[in-house]
Amino acid sequence: MRKKIVIIGALGYIGTELCKIYSGESWKNSVVAIDSRFVSERVTQLRDWNIEFQQGGLLDKDFLKKILADADIVYHLAGITDVAYVKKDSNTEQDEKIKNIAIEGTRNVLNSIDKKCKLIFPSTHVIYEGLKETKRNIEENEKPCPILAYSSSKAQNEKEIRESKKNYVILRLGSVYGYSTDTMRINIMPNLFSKIASLNGTISLFSGGKQIKSLAPLIDVARCMKFMGENKKINNETFNLTKESVTVKEVAEICKKINPKMSIKTTDDETPNLGYTLSNKKLLKTGFKFLYNLEDSVREMITMWSKRNSNENLEYIKKGEKEFKDKRGKISNYELPEPINLVGYIDSKKGTVRANHFHPIQEQKVLLVRGQFISIYQDLLNKNSSKVTHVVNEGDLIVTKPNVAHAMVFTKDSIFLNLVRGEREHKNYGITHTVKHILVDEKEKKILMENYKIDCRCCGNKNLRRVVSLGYQPLANNLLTKKNSDCELYPLEMNYCENCYNCQLSVVIDPKKMFSNYLYLSSTSKSFSKHFEDAAKKYIKEFKLSNKKSYIIDVGSNDGVALKPFKDKKFNNILGIEPAKNLAKLSNKNKIKTFNGFLEKKNIKKIKKNANLILASNVFAHSDNLKEMAECMLSLLDKKGTIIIEVQYLLNTIKDLTFDNIYHEHYNYWSLTSLMNFFKQFEATLYKAERINTHGGSIRVYIKKGRKNKVENSIKELLKTEEKFGIKNYKTYQEFGKKVQKIKENVRKNIKNLKSNGKKLIGYGSPAKATTALNFFGISEEIDFIVEDNKLKQGKFVPGVKIEIVNKKKVLDKNNNMIVLAWNFYQDIKQNNKELSNNFVSIKDLES
Ligand SMILES: [Zn+2]
Repeated sequence: MRKKIVIIGALGYIGTELCKIYSGESWKNSVVAIDSRFVSERVTQLRDWNIEFQQGGLLDKDFLKKILADADIVYHLAGITDVAYVKKDSNTEQDEKIKNIAIEGTRNVLNSIDKKCKLIFPSTHVIYEGLKETKRNIEENEKPCPILAYSSSKAQNEKEIRESKKNYVILRLGSVYGYSTDTMRINIMPNLFSKIASLNGTISLFSGGKQIKSLAPLIDVARCMKFMGENKKINNETFNLTKESVTVKEVAEICKKINPKMSIKTTDDETPNLGYTLSNKKLLKTGFKFLYNLEDSVREMITMWSKRNSNENLEYIKKGEKEFKDKRGKISNYELPEPINLVGYIDSKKGTVRANHFHPIQEQKVLLVRGQFISIYQDLLNKNSSKVTHVVNEGDLIVTKPNVAHAMVFTKDSIFLNLVRGEREHKNYGITHTVKHILVDEKEKKILMENYKIDCRCCGNKNLRRVVSLGYQPLANNLLTKKNSDCELYPLEMNYCENCYNCQLSVVIDPKKMFSNYLYLSSTSKSFSKHFEDAAKKYIKEFKLSNKKSYIIDVGSNDGVALKPFKDKKFNNILGIEPAKNLAKLSNKNKIKTFNGFLEKKNIKKIKKNANLILASNVFAHSDNLKEMAECMLSLLDKKGTIIIEVQYLLNTIKDLTFDNIYHEHYNYWSLTSLMNFFKQFEATLYKAERINTHGGSIRVYIKKGRKNKVENSIKELLKTEEKFGIKNYKTYQEFGKKVQKIKENVRKNIKNLKSNGKKLIGYGSPAKATTALNFFGISEEIDFIVEDNKLKQGKFVPGVKIEIVNKKKVLDKNNNMIVLAWNFYQDIKQNNKELSNNFVSIKDLES
């Protein structure tokens, strides 16, 4: 015969499991699920199972009557579960609500069902909370002694059910534990412990964890309910429903056994009462069999909860979805990863800091309503993780995972909503809720406020996306004179603009800090000198330059390396522009006329105009204000002259994973696509492009004044190549970021292996890219010192990792592993230094 089965509270912890069990029978019986909540995903699932869903509450008598009147079995699982467990947490208002729903609601259920209907009612072991002494194996006939609202109303319910003359089974549940897709239920001890274990955290055992508990596995509880509901021989009975009785310590030890990375902390305070346990003898006599056990359930919870998302998901931004716009305004929707029960409304003044803490178990969800802030976070479970920053704009929801330290630096007056699950004033505050952790101090706040680059340098877009984070890093070329000299660290992170395809760093460091005294001499590199000799020959021919008449400017002229070939060909009319005092001085001494300063508007009058050729090699990424630099170049150019820019090529950086040419001097990362977009704003034409091989892959672009110049085929072709490569697709950049993180893991592992033979590890070369790489990898003491040919660098220290830079004389024997950090010169270095080591390794070769 077709039966009608009703599950009240179907979307709850036990209800969910019971529905699952009934999903197999919903085609031959009528199964109705009731809940006061409506969770669209879950309701859809119930309907797929052919289970009817009705939304409604226990206080709605008509509603209950309509659905329950002809029911054969009713599972009454509804009630408020967010209850106080200790007296001081309870409050009158909440108590009234609990009592009202529990007592009135249960009366309504009793009044709605027919005599032939069987009511399955879960009561609780908590009705014995008033026991003064430790008591084991309490049997069903023991008199209840409730104290708080929750247990008192359960005891009252039991009494009224028994007196109702209806058919019933009451199940007094132990603490129900187990994994559920509905909720983590971390207020239950085994679930809380499993959660902590899944995060490699620490379980605190008060009084040595000697307290005893009766437990029941979630699925068995649901199974037992069905067993009772359908067993015609069992009527008007009360059973204890518990599987095992264990100490708190035993549960902690099971967790530790499953995940040895977690720890247990024990305190020795006195416990007056160890608690009590329930006997399940009567239940077992009915023939019901438990199928699950504590260890398996704990293992399942730990496994499911430790499936930690990759680094990028430690904190992520969600934008509003399913937007609806009309003339009244806009509606945006945010789907939350878990239910919340508390909203905090928080406003914050510009220039202040909040958070600086982490949540061991909770996920944090913040919706920014007004203003803007920089969010800084760091994974505390991975000691090699770096600190990451990003901008949160109006309308962004950010979700921060447990055990991720975070801080907010407000760049505007802001209002945000804190969407919380659980209570702010949790009894475990300081243990499992919120733990202080200073991630951003006053000094760092100042640095972030002063240096953060929020808008796209080219188009002004504020919603930039992250390509890669290389952590907090020192300025790569500012070598330290003393090992422990002060050294400021700044985030080194690349962002991508989906609007104009520009890539830039998340911060802008004052160029004076980086370029006023520069230790890198371009001329010391033979291949560089050769590159510029070839280039000069090519330009003289292509633009028919004459050594008598032509005027040539080199922007960022370093020690004059690009102008020297012209000088050698008797060009007299040449000018270098170089901000580094030491380099300008050196060039002038070598008879290459050089203006010491930045190419910017306030200096433009001091520089002679009408240049036939303006070169800018490896500088067109070295400024925050590239627009001004471009304008200045155009204003110095003769109307028929040409600007030739050489700049590192983003396509190579991404393809070859040369993340180590990301450093603070390089404010910007160019593709031809983004350069074309950039030059559209000027009265100029970018008409030709070539790929060249300096700096591991660069491009050389040619620009003329005016918008009507003929654009050569090379442009069209390279743009096509870039499009095909995915330069306009954020996924390309994301993949790059992931691969770079993988490189870090690999290098750390390989360096460890290299060290395992007991030999010294010595570095060779200290270019800026080595500073980036070593700091990113977190490799410091592993390397004894670094050999360097550039005398200006000898005796100094690589900032951040503090590795000494020395003359090669310091290498006393060949019995070492020589790791070449200037990897682009690997072959030369190996060839020219055979006497230094038996084993040369390129750092690049450690990346896989
Ligand atoms: Zn842009």
